[in-house]
Amino acid sequence: MNAKIWLVGAGPGDPELLTLKAVRALREAEVVMLDDLVNPAILEHCPQARVIRVGKRGGCRSTPQAFIQRLMLRHARQGRCVVRLKGGDPCVFGRGGEEAAWLQARGVEVELVNGITAGLAGATHCGIPLTLRGVSRGVTLVTAHTQDDSSLNWQALAQSGMTLVVYMGVARLIDIQHGLLAGGMSKETPVAMIENASLPQQRECRSQLQCMAVDAAAFELKSPAILVIGEVVSGAVASLELEREAG
Ligand code: SAH
Repeated sequence: MNAKIWLVGAGPGDPELLTLKAVRALREAEVVMLDDLVNPAILEHCPQARVIRVGKRGGCRSTPQAFIQRLMLRHARQGRCVVRLKGGDPCVFGRGGEEAAWLQARGVEVELVNGITAGLAGATHCGIPLTLRGVSRGVTLVTAHTQDDSSLNWQALAQSGMTLVVYMGVARLIDIQHGLLAGGMSKETPVAMIENASLPQQRECRSQLQCMAVDAAAFELKSPAILVIGEVVSGAVASLELEREAG
């Protein structure tokens, strides 16, 4: 019996941002294991499947990772088509890499399916180009949350000249602000904080590095949210660039 597990990215929330491949996997699925950042509306593509919710939100009670992995393995070994549906992209802060390696080591075939990661979706839905000629030559996706509480290399991030997209940063806004300022990033650097990107309840708070934590508190920013930090956030810069190009 050929056990196979699909590790599928469900995208940031808008069901229309699902890939055709994800939809195909869902149509074939007998068991769907669902993370809690996944929009349940997506389940319309798998009415035939048994759905198991295995949420793992940071800081909340959640299904232990080892249990989730064993459950996937058990269903696959019983010959069922299993889809593990994760928010965004399975391999961007989604443990897709870890799970794939664990399953492959046990002889299970794994197919990874991309999803649109929240950072890309959030920026696009706010009209922010993550790279822009003459303004930002690259983008760094970074998580503010670490397993062992080790610190990021703020100086390297601050001085990279790249747009920063920070995941899991809501509970660590002060650390991010202080770290980047101490690392030498300009205090006027524009910041966008985007909550529930791509969903109807999306909210966006614009600020500057020097006051982003205070502004986020006044705005009552809540998780899930991503932060986009860099000159590309400033609409003025973007439109200037476009004007220059048109002229
Ligand atoms: N694999 C996911 C990321 C999982 S980590 C992806 O590729 O998008 C969870 C973090 O992702 C959240 O803390 C938040 O920072 C971000 N996130 C996920 N969905 C989001 C959304 N709809 N809007 C804003 N941020 C989101």
